[in-house]
Amino acid sequence: MILGHFLVISLALNAGFLYRDYCKGKHHYQEFFSFKNECKNASLTLLETSPPPFSSSSSSSKAFDGIINLDHGDPTMYERYWQEMGDKTTVVINGWQFISYFSDVRKVCWFLEPEFANSIIRLHKLVGNAITEDRYIVVGTGSTQLFQAVLYAVSPPNASEPISVVSAAPFYSSYPLITDFLKSGLHKWAGDAYTFNKDEPYIELVTSPNNPDGFPRQAVVNQNQGILIHDFAYYWPQYIPISSPADHDIMLFTVSKSTGHAGTRIGWALVKDKEIAKKMTEFIVLSTIGVSKDSQIRAAKILQVVSDSHQYKGNFKEGKAFFEDSYDHMARRWKQLRDAVNVSKLFSLPDFTSGTCTFSGRTFGSQPAFAWLKCEGEIDDCESFLHGHEILTRGGKHFGGSEKYVRISMLPRDETFDQFIERLSSISSS
Ligand code: PMP
Repeated sequence: MILGHFLVISLALNAGFLYRDYCKGKHHYQEFFSFKNECKNASLTLLETSPPPFSSSSSSSKAFDGIINLDHGDPTMYERYWQEMGDKTTVVINGWQFISYFSDVRKVCWFLEPEFANSIIRLHKLVGNAITEDRYIVVGTGSTQLFQAVLYAVSPPNASEPISVVSAAPFYSSYPLITDFLKSGLHKWAGDAYTFNKDEPYIELVTSPNNPDGFPRQAVVNQNQGILIHDFAYYWPQYIPISSPADHDIMLFTVSKSTGHAGTRIGWALVKDKEIAKKMTEFIVLSTIGVSKDSQIRAAKILQVVSDSHQYKGNFKEGKAFFEDSYDHMARRWKQLRDAVNVSKLFSLPDFTSGTCTFSGRTFGSQPAFAWLKCEGEIDDCESFLHGHEILTRGGKHFGGSEKYVRISMLPRDETFDQFIERLSSISSS
């Protein structure tokens, strides 16, 4: 197996050199970072008013000239908690460390740092949101890369037609874009899972709780030829009561929405089947020859501190345990939002049934990372309506839904969120 790893990596390196030569002289960054697909149509104005992606400030959700940008789910809400933690999460990496491509060549995912793997297992055991026993862990550059790796790994390699990829609408707006991005012969986006009725193999993406509407989800296509991918980016106790440890064949997680470290670009997959884990690893080797060790070490530290904040509470004079603090933060924001919406006849929000969280023991209704806001009455295009009030959101059609809805990020910094609530309340009363 070890020899196999070396062969794959040498292949990837060679492919990398060929690609470099082929690409010389072209401006790839521009192409790669233009966010063209993601932002075209409804978000054109957003591109004009937001800071460019390379701006050194991390203020993409800050108010500019009165514009409140809640289009992206940039999780800057979490900054304050981590600031309060001071040096607890500081990681020092010396120049000689993490030079090798390899982490543990005995493992299927040989670029997974053992320290990171341990911190994942520890956190899932503590929170009780996923089974880690008898699973392979595959690390990715965000769960975005893992999603692509899974598609590659589970699509039949020699089928005459690309396999259909579906998800129940409203679905995460990036799924169709990522699935069809490379116009692969392996898979193709086939839309809303509720309307999929072809008698053929398919891949169903199950996002629970769902982005954009926050509801818990299960597979909806009622056939036995499906391969299920469970995206658990938001299955954490600040957003939804944890009901039981998730136990599925392919489960995706990310630090982006669990701890707020979207910029670290680290996600992980828990995979039952060894061959699928191997193919996912192969995908990552061929696309990026592994995943930044520096980022894995940082992510490991963050996850350890999250666990410590609950298990060794006494040592945390700096503040509350992570999921308590973030639960309270989300609860406050949802109350503010519901209060603002309740005084108006213009908008409505989803209602969530309460459940008891096995982690915290609290009984509560979901308080998702996004609000799926509906414009009531005469307003047919909710995104344009709010845009008119200088609130940037993402319209329902990006999620395979109706234009009566918009998705609003609930995770900006406090100052932006407070301005948003103020602005929304003034629309209601005017
Ligand atoms: N899945 C879902 C449902 C998401 O909302 C997101 C982030 N918006 C991702 C995956 C991607 O996360 P990452 O930052 O780890 O690539």
